[in-house]
Amino acid sequence: MTYRLFDVEVVRRIQLSPSMVRLVFADPDVRHMAIGGPDQRIKIFFPSAGQATPQLPRDVNWYAGYRALPPTTRPPMRSYTIRRLDATVAEVEVDFVLHGDGGPASRWAIRARPGDRTVLSAPDGRDGAIVSGFEWRPPAGTRRLLLVGDETAVPAMAAILEHLADTGCGATIDVVLEVAGRDDMLSLRAPPQARIDWRARDGAAHGRCLLDALAGGAGPPGSAGPVVARPAHIPSGDAEIDIDRAILWETDSAAEAGGGLYVWMAGEAGAVVALRRHLVGVRGIDRRAIACMGYWRLGRSLD
Ligand SMILES: Cc1cc2nc3c(=O)[nH]c(=O)nc-3n(C[C@H](O)[C@H](O)[C@H](O)COP(=O)(O)OP(=O)(O)OC[C@H]3O[C@@H](n4cnc5c(N)ncnc54)[C@H](O)[C@@H]3O)c2cc1C
Repeated sequence: MTYRLFDVEVVRRIQLSPSMVRLVFADPDVRHMAIGGPDQRIKIFFPSAGQATPQLPRDVNWYAGYRALPPTTRPPMRSYTIRRLDATVAEVEVDFVLHGDGGPASRWAIRARPGDRTVLSAPDGRDGAIVSGFEWRPPAGTRRLLLVGDETAVPAMAAILEHLADTGCGATIDVVLEVAGRDDMLSLRAPPQARIDWRARDGAAHGRCLLDALAGGAGPPGSAGPVVARPAHIPSGDAEIDIDRAILWETDSAAEAGGGLYVWMAGEAGAVVALRRHLVGVRGIDRRAIACMGYWRLGRSLD
């Protein structure tokens, strides 16, 4: 599957909550965009200083040309999730967390208005190949689902829940979401059996509420039951992967691993590591049943 560049215009801006805005992008070309799974990721480019729109090379080797641009003129690129694609009207929606002026993506989203233009790198459906760039892959036979994430994962989790509702999923579904405050809790369309546990951070450390929720018993028990009584804490790093140098991305779930349980987890990398440690070490969940993704890293830019 080929990812390629789509030039798009902001046609609508919808403030979903104090810290989340939905931008609807449109262009006739968007009718060729494709989605492989509900947590489909794309890249969005943001103008560098002095640019009205991101200036990118346009030849077949555009990415090599992009990497070769001097840092001062190379438009920053960040990962986002397609919240909804409507190819029939050639529109694609992306929900942005507004975390202040500290990063180019959030800074741009705070100010973006209809008429503004940008560039997306997204799957092109025209070659008919299988679409890659998504991680929602519950193995056949999954009977219990646990979804855990912070606000950056809310768009993906919302799309996953809509997908489960549309496909008549019969599994038990536990969802734990952490957002900045009560006003950031959104109304989600989900299967009727889904238990959705919103937690407001209210100034606590990122991931703290998710860990508290899991330590308090949220979600299904692991296949082996509790094995270690370890105090819950959020470490700055992890012995297995240096999350300040590498992106946390472990998604190779094994069909037989979870005994019918599949866990999808995304958010701040340090928090995700702590959550996985809890699920594996305390709950006894097989690590291979857990897809976990570091969507961002506190104190670092992930370009
Ligand atoms: C596959 C994937 C899908 C994603 N989907 C979405 C999505 O749909 N919506 C969405 O909003 N984000 C999403 N993210 C997360 C997003 O890419 C990051 O939050 C990104 O760092 C934002 O870029 P920035 O330019 O605003 O900040 P950066 O320049 O990357 O970082 C600048 C500073 O801001 C901090 N920072 C970054 N993000 C946050 C945050 N959310 N809260 C507080 N501080 C932050 C960093 O730690 C750093 O100190 C996704 C990430 C991945 C990998």
